[in-house]
Amino acid sequence: MAREYDAVFDLIEREGLDSNVSVKLTALGLKLSYRLCLGNIEEVVKHAAESGNFVRIDMEDSTTTTETLRIYRDLRELGYGNVGIVLQARLRRTLRDVRELAALRPNVRLCKGIYLEPPLIAYQGYQEVRDNFVCLHETLLGYGCYVGIATHDEWLIEQALERVRGMKPAEYEFQMLLGVRELRGTKLVREGHRLRVYVPFGEHWYAYSVRRLQENPKMAGYIASDTISRLFGGSPNGR
Ligand SMILES: Cc1cc2nc3c(=O)[nH]c(=O)nc-3n(C[C@H](O)[C@H](O)[C@H](O)COP(=O)(O)OP(=O)(O)OC[C@H]3O[C@@H](n4cnc5c(N)ncnc54)[C@H](O)[C@@H]3O)c2cc1C
Repeated sequence: MAREYDAVFDLIEREGLDSNVSVKLTALGLKLSYRLCLGNIEEVVKHAAESGNFVRIDMEDSTTTTETLRIYRDLRELGYGNVGIVLQARLRRTLRDVRELAALRPNVRLCKGIYLEPPLIAYQGYQEVRDNFVCLHETLLGYGCYVGIATHDEWLIEQALERVRGMKPAEYEFQMLLGVRELRGTKLVREGHRLRVYVPFGEHWYAYSVRRLQENPKMAGYIASDTISRLFGGSPNGR
């Protein structure tokens, strides 16, 4: 997997693409051995640095949060600045994580969190997760962090727009998944904001898609409604 990511960085450089790569630490051995995973991710981050590129460490389910953040810290301590993290508004611990990471001024992708987690560790209410998202965004901006605002939720997009008002477009970015709310993304770009699109790649796309659906069955509804709106040219949910 590490070699595969290296090959992707080479391709990005050769094709002159404005693109970085998001990696999942469990794919690099996190559940096998911390040392193995650190070695693998260091190779990828080092390789990316050679072409001036950036690695985003995706956040997976809550069994991996502590070790994922530990790997991020270790990489920063090793001197790598071209690495960023993902934080999930769904988790109750995240505000504490933000405070503990503040001294590093992390580059953060902020999202709701796709994994459905138990009430003891995660907010369950739709608005509760949103409110935490806004609170985390404000806190991160207060610490001077670069934030990738990863959401398709109109209410959150509006809240984020209010909070980035007055900032230069290069100081933040919006992020969306490929094929989701494309018209809204285009509107953001027309208004002068930057938008990064998350593009899953690889040969095992079917297994990946099935896993995503198992993690969060709500996705099936989204995909069905997106497909219907594409087929019939409509625009449900203001896409
Ligand atoms: C760039 C990017 C990277 C991400 N990385 C991570 C990560 O590392 N770890 C993690 O746990 N989660 C990640 N996520 C997922 C994220 O946590 C949410 O689960 C997901 O974005 C849905 O939440 P939402 O904020 O869009 O709001 P929601 O309330 O779920 O969605 C708002 C509206 O957006 C539309 N929509 C949302 N998702 C989809 C979809 N998949 N297909 C079609 N329509 C959709 C629907 O119209 C929906 O009503 C990422 C999301 C993005 C955009």
